[in-house]
Amino acid sequence: MSLILCPKCGNETDVLYENVCKDCFFEQFQLARLPHVIHVKFCSRCGSVYYQGVWDDVDSTGDMVIRLVEDELMVHEYASDLEIYFEPQQLTSYMYRVRVIVDARVEGVPVNQELETEVRIGRESCDRCSRIAGGYFEGIVQIRGTNRVPDKNEVEDCIRIANDVIDRMYKKGERFAFISKSVESKHGIDLYIGSSNTSRQICKQIESERGGKFSESPTLFGQKDGKEIYRITFSMRLPEFKAGDIIEYKDRVIEIKNSGNRVSGIDLSNGSRFVEYQDKMNKAVHVASRDDAITAVLVSEGDNEIMVLDPETYKTLTLKKPVTFESGNKSEIPVIKTEHGLFVLSD
Ligand SMILES: [Zn+2]
Ligand SMILES: [Zn+2]
Repeated sequence: MSLILCPKCGNETDVLYENVCKDCFFEQFQLARLPHVIHVKFCSRCGSVYYQGVWDDVDSTGDMVIRLVEDELMVHEYASDLEIYFEPQQLTSYMYRVRVIVDARVEGVPVNQELETEVRIGRESCDRCSRIAGGYFEGIVQIRGTNRVPDKNEVEDCIRIANDVIDRMYKKGERFAFISKSVESKHGIDLYIGSSNTSRQICKQIESERGGKFSESPTLFGQKDGKEIYRITFSMRLPEFKAGDIIEYKDRVIEIKNSGNRVSGIDLSNGSRFVEYQDKMNKAVHVASRDDAITAVLVSEGDNEIMVLDPETYKTLTLKKPVTFESGNKSEIPVIKTEHGLFVLSD
């Protein structure tokens, strides 16, 4: 084994640690380093924290403080069998003192160090909250109907879908997933959304849950840092027909039970099932709604026919009995009047 001289103390040694002998190494060795003060910004509206250039969510301030200190703590690369203890102490709501104890082994020798730092929390509205407050948006989702106006329930359901998508996108890290404004009009509703991608996902989700189609049209809004900024208008058209509509299609009168990209319902003349793609139904005509149903007195029930009293003329009418018809013991049944005559509605 060849011996070398330590350049610091001149003693003979077989191994050098950072260019000095073991004794000299431990004399100047520092196991861990920590800044005396750590600054962090905290949004008091939503609780997110600005650190290392980004705003991020935190579960609790105490955990956040430990995480920050952990990130700032530098431990020597020679250390093994590390054990680190954090003792945070809240001084004020803006200030924490954190004691850190580091135990490790370095070159087989147990080493221990205590450090202390102060975490100072500055309050500031985060990027998301300040955009929400400023009414910022990148996309407008305009919810409309095809050849009709969406009803209250549809609008409410679309808002519910928008909020679900926003929750999901926000949890995935999309900070500008939010509705900054919503404007109702006689044509439907406009949702102003913080990010265009979120707007697009909302339309896709409405499409998959309720059917319909959307299109995008970008407009140049301005420039920022030399980049062109676009706002996108998403025109979301809900399908023409919805559950509860009574339509005439290919000489059949149909009550729609479910609507989406595929429409299913009941043929009111005989009770048979109806299924068709909404795309193909451009010749269908809306004739009534389930809400227009009136009650008629059931006069008699035969094997294939039923007799009812027309509620307007009080004439007895014979109707074909739908296969699914069950009167129970009811004396009155819901019917719908159309240009094609009176039809019995199923329950
Ligand atoms: Zn030495
Ligand atoms: Zn915030």
